Amino acid sequence: MLRFVDVWIVAMAGTWLLYFFIGPSVQYAGQIGLAVGVLTRWLLRRGQTRIAHWVFVLSLIATIVLAPLFVNGARTPLLCALPLAILLAAWLLGRPTMWALTALSAVVVMLYGAAESRWGWSAPLPLRPADVFAVSLATATLVTAIVAHTMLKSFVSSVQTEVELQDHLQMSETRLKALFSALQDAILLVDEQGRIDFANQYFCDLFQISETPESLTGRQAGSVIEQIRHRYAGPQSAVERIMELVRLGQPCLNEEVTMIDGRTLLRDFIPFDYGSGRLGRLWHHRDVSHLRQMQAQLEIANRQLEALSMTDGLTSLANRRSFDQALEREWARCQRQKRPLALILLDVDWFKLFNDRYGHLAGDACLRQVAAALRESVRRSTDLPARYGGEEFALISEVSSLQNAVVLAELIRQNVRARAIPHADGQEGLLTISLGVAVLTPAPELSARSLLKAADQALYRAKDGGRDRVESAPA
Ligand code: GH3
Ligand code: MG
Ligand code: MG
Repeated sequence: MLRFVDVWIVAMAGTWLLYFFIGPSVQYAGQIGLAVGVLTRWLLRRGQTRIAHWVFVLSLIATIVLAPLFVNGARTPLLCALPLAILLAAWLLGRPTMWALTALSAVVVMLYGAAESRWGWSAPLPLRPADVFAVSLATATLVTAIVAHTMLKSFVSSVQTEVELQDHLQMSETRLKALFSALQDAILLVDEQGRIDFANQYFCDLFQISETPESLTGRQAGSVIEQIRHRYAGPQSAVERIMELVRLGQPCLNEEVTMIDGRTLLRDFIPFDYGSGRLGRLWHHRDVSHLRQMQAQLEIANRQLEALSMTDGLTSLANRRSFDQALEREWARCQRQKRPLALILLDVDWFKLFNDRYGHLAGDACLRQVAAALRESVRRSTDLPARYGGEEFALISEVSSLQNAVVLAELIRQNVRARAIPHADGQEGLLTISLGVAVLTPAPELSARSLLKAADQALYRAKDGGRDRVESAPA
């Protein structure tokens, strides 16, 4: 409309200006048209669309009717009436035609006026009142025809649009229903009055409702809840929670719901606006039992994996990784409690020779025996025996003194000897071990590494001292 009025203003200004030089007969039309255009434009700018429409149409009619009062000559009303009628029709017809006809009417007015005023051309019609009447009638008929045509066209197109809209609506509804039916999520829509608006097939399947989802439509949601309440693990609290959600009216997502048969559902409660202020509630459930089972299995597998990653495959003792962590942990604990911590390192004597003589498989079996002897020597549950390296083992122990730690180390040595593992190259034909013992009470200048170093040095001394013995680091 605004664009049209702009074209109109330009056309009318042009008409007025051109005829100011040519002759006064139609400049009034231009002036009035311009004024109407400017007023309409101002109203449109202020958002007064309806008023602008009426001002424009009524002004056009008034111009046609009043023009003869302002000008002389019988042809002037016709000169005004013709382009104005065309413009009125053009406006009703629609934009592109409107502009074309606006321009055309201006050209017709210009040519007609120019021919008459500038070049003294006289219209072929002497324009008697009867002719004026005839031409006016023709114009009116034309306008009526165009208006009728336009109205009919808009009526037909509105009917067509309605049919198309209905088709479109039906198609999208069918599509939506198909989508909801195929969904492996339970959907329930409840309106403000608590009536079920929509339920999909999966909702009935999930809550084991034997009716069709269509038959639920229109029923009170409360009656359906009553029907399915025994399917919840705790029917009373489940129903109370549902009531609470409805009362609060706040979205609540991913709430876990346990069913009596052990299934776990995830529930979303989403209040929403149907539009025009009507509120509804969306209940969305999905069965995550399978997911939960997989999660539990994964957790078990993870725990097993973690245990494996901390265990030595050959001896089933704690491995080096686990030993390192335990040493740091126990050191920190003893630091807090200001208690001594003992570390016993043990190494199989002449084990390379054992392997060379009896083979690696026998060597492995021998390491398992040493591990068993170590394990059976441990008294406290807090003590940690570990495989430290190839044929080296360690024991982290909480003892009260170095003497007690030496006694424990001696016990381990005896237990290995007691197994009487033959070793032709060993002491007295038996497999023996050497042990280094260190006991330290954590202090600022010390660390877990200090304890490890002290035990290692003691072990070296045991080896140097002839093997099959216990040596301890000075306290
Ligand atoms: P020493 O009394 O001085 O400790 O002499 P050793 O022969 O025991 O010491 P050395 O470090 O020279 O030899 C350790 C051997 O332990 C070498 C390696 O073949 C063997 N060994 C390490 N891990 C394993 C294992 O898992 N299985 C077997 N069978 N042998 C291993
Ligand atoms: Mg060694
Ligand atoms: Mg050795």
